[in-house]
Amino acid sequence: MTQDILRLEGLRKVHGDAATGVVALSDVSLTLPSGTFTAVMGPSGSGKSTLLQCAAGLDSPTAGRVFVAGREMTGDETELTVFRREHIGFVFQQFNLLPSLTVLDNVTLPLRLAGKRPDEARARDILTKVGLGDRIGHRPPALSGGQQQRTAIARALVTEPSVVFADEPTGALDTRGAREVLNLLQQAVRVYGRTVVMVTHDPVAAAYADSVVFLADGAIVGRMADPTPDAVAERLTRLGDDVARAGRAVSE
Ligand code: ADP
Ligand code: MG
Repeated sequence: MTQDILRLEGLRKVHGDAATGVVALSDVSLTLPSGTFTAVMGPSGSGKSTLLQCAAGLDSPTAGRVFVAGREMTGDETELTVFRREHIGFVFQQFNLLPSLTVLDNVTLPLRLAGKRPDEARARDILTKVGLGDRIGHRPPALSGGQQQRTAIARALVTEPSVVFADEPTGALDTRGAREVLNLLQQAVRVYGRTVVMVTHDPVAAAYADSVVFLADGAIVGRMADPTPDAVAERLTRLGDDVARAGRAVSE
């Protein structure tokens, strides 16, 4: 049964203190069904990273509520950490792998942190699926960018999380590496039923998703189902115009 695996209700985030701080998110509500691949797009500074950090429980919203798999992400920090480890995967632009650990040890790390027996068979299986079966003993510095990001995705998937968040996962990759990573994220959704939310500024990358959410000035200003690179690029251009117009209206 499809359920809303991620629910954001009236999220507001002010960075810094309430009086002089920056409003990064103003009133964001969003529900995403399980097994979907969503791209988040918008101009630089529109609140994309803040949205992901709040949704993943890595940052706390100033107001509003976040539900993952039906559970509200509030409360005791220790409990939250346990919940995050089991239910959330996060993929960073700069991979964030530990350079001194092998690929296999990087991937089993979340299991060890969760106090579980590091299931090497499962980690090997996932690494084979992401095409790194012959690289498990290598250390990250010996791998290409695309291979490092695929390792990071394997690490995010190893706990079978409810939602995988990826913030510009192809931002540090060349075209080939980006394609590998996007195919993999798409496969995680279509073949393995995971739910992925990916920030990107690239219309080609966004077109790998099932739908796109457009952010501007900390608010959701549009949605698009079945995106194509051309349709996304065209919508982004208009978004720029809309933001410029809104900015003029404010300053006039
Ligand atoms: P995006 O990822 O879309 O570029 P961000 O979420 O990083 O946007 O930032 C949204 C707004 O919040 C920007 O104005 C940014 O400068 C501000 N911001 C983000 N993080 C912080 C922070 N830690 N402290 C202060 N301001 C921040
Ligand atoms: Mg960002």
